Amino acid sequence: MFERYTPDIDAYVKRVRSGPCFVCGIVSRDSAFPDHHIVYEDEGAIAFLAMNPTQHGYTLVAPKEHREQVADDFTVEEYLGLQRVVHRVAEAVRAEAQAERVYILSLGSNQGNAHVHWHVVPLPPDTPYEEQQFAAVMLETAGALKIPDEEKAALAARIGQRIERS
Ligand SMILES: [Zn+2]
Repeated sequence: MFERYTPDIDAYVKRVRSGPCFVCGIVSRDSAFPDHHIVYEDEGAIAFLAMNPTQHGYTLVAPKEHREQVADDFTVEEYLGLQRVVHRVAEAVRAEAQAERVYILSLGSNQGNAHVHWHVVPLPPDTPYEEQQFAAVMLETAGALKIPDEEKAALAARIGQRIERS
């Protein structure tokens, strides 16, 4: 339903490796990061739409504080608190996208994208087997969906409403 495009991967890599932390930028509403639509926020966590989504409803969840080690930088209670948010976001995204599975990954790099975050990626029904799993997540294989900004805003609001109801 949405056209796909291949983002400028080199420009993206340059930005994440040399620019300021994008998650901290979104948390602080830095105007240099205008393309993210926040779907959920509480005192410790934030969730927002991926800028170059390979799937419709692709959402990221992160702690608001800049932490880099996915397990070691959190107490067990802090970690489980974040996973409660991941669970709520995953269910909201699954329902909104009518997904047949939801992928949850934490990736990142110490050389760029260091701020811990979880990718919550809905897999649309009837996706061919070879287009599932990593192929459904990677920009290089899936490309990104060209979603108009007003549709992203509406999508973020719908996912946010589902989270609030959960
Ligand atoms: Zn950060």
